[in-house]
Amino acid sequence: MPHRVLNFGAGPAMLPHPVLEQVAGELTDLDGSGMSVLEISHRGAAFERIAERTEADLRDLLAIPHNYRVIFGQGGATLQFAAVPLNLCSSNATADHLVTGEWSRRAAHEGERFSRVNVAIDGASSGYRTIPPQTEWTLTQGAAFVAYAVNETIHGVEFPYVPETGDVPLVADMSSTILSRPIDVSRFGVIYFGAQKNLGPAGLTVVIVRDDLIGKARAGTPSVLDYEMAATSGSMLNTPPTFAWYVSGLVLQWIRSEGGLAEMAARNQRKQQLLYDAIDRSSLFDNEVDPAYRSWTNVPFQIREPHLEPVFLTEAATAGLTNLKGHRTLGGFRASIYNAMPESGVRTLVQFIEDFDQRWAGMA
Ligand SMILES: *Cc1c(COP(=O)(O)O)cnc(C)c1O
Repeated sequence: MPHRVLNFGAGPAMLPHPVLEQVAGELTDLDGSGMSVLEISHRGAAFERIAERTEADLRDLLAIPHNYRVIFGQGGATLQFAAVPLNLCSSNATADHLVTGEWSRRAAHEGERFSRVNVAIDGASSGYRTIPPQTEWTLTQGAAFVAYAVNETIHGVEFPYVPETGDVPLVADMSSTILSRPIDVSRFGVIYFGAQKNLGPAGLTVVIVRDDLIGKARAGTPSVLDYEMAATSGSMLNTPPTFAWYVSGLVLQWIRSEGGLAEMAARNQRKQQLLYDAIDRSSLFDNEVDPAYRSWTNVPFQIREPHLEPVFLTEAATAGLTNLKGHRTLGGFRASIYNAMPESGVRTLVQFIEDFDQRWAGMA
């Protein structure tokens, strides 16, 4: 067995081991072609098969209705902060933004370059530790869309429900939760996510968009950001990120072989419960997020004795538990436990936290 650690990084994140082995195994000769997937044309038959199967598997896993198009693009979720208003509204329309953490804050900020922005929730006053109830949101009558991040990857705050927006299209950044459990796609106008957290390598960005929101991009929208041009060209207006697309396809096959999203949801439910329970039981560690809104995939935690922070990280790395350092804006720690992190990996982390707590709590 090659040397592998338990990687709790937020993204680019751990990938399923069988997928890495398959990539390595067919890297120099894809399907008897004598070429690697890195070297073939995106317009050739071999890649066409990969592209089609990837989309079919994504549609199957997420039960994407027929009236939605799937775009395999680039530029990350961050470029969608601009692409969404360019495709969905004019510059004097108002977009409502639910700001519950750093990513939705950035989406609102970028959105201001392209339309009017109404911040319907601002979670900054709570330190982004909770989500105010829908009765307190200040939504705009006739808004062009309502945008939010389903899970705040940095702050570890997640919506446990889908917001109700009536006829106003709901736009969801699902970068860090996509494929972590089943979703009802029909509730959304646009869903987008970068691949590098829960789907595959960095470089691929997927957009799932309802038919009636396509074909309305404002004048001046760059072609590659125009949902209609992307969709009608089969995401091949220009060269797509072929390798990331291919690896993402293998991850989708892996998810299917493991039992699909119902199974992912059951595992992820258990994983987050184990970890939060250990943090809550400990005397040294804290997660300050309102329990009703705790993220399943990104678990930030702090230590009450700051001088022990580097000790924890060093000992963890020695034990093969890596990338536990918290985001640079928050400090502390963060464990990202996406689909590829096995339950046994979370148990190892829990055991480590418990041991550390026992060894150091009395001595602090
Ligand atoms: C990581 C992340 C982003 C930024 O993604 P890029 O692909 O780097 O642009 C945006 N939103 C959320 C929720 C994220 O987790």
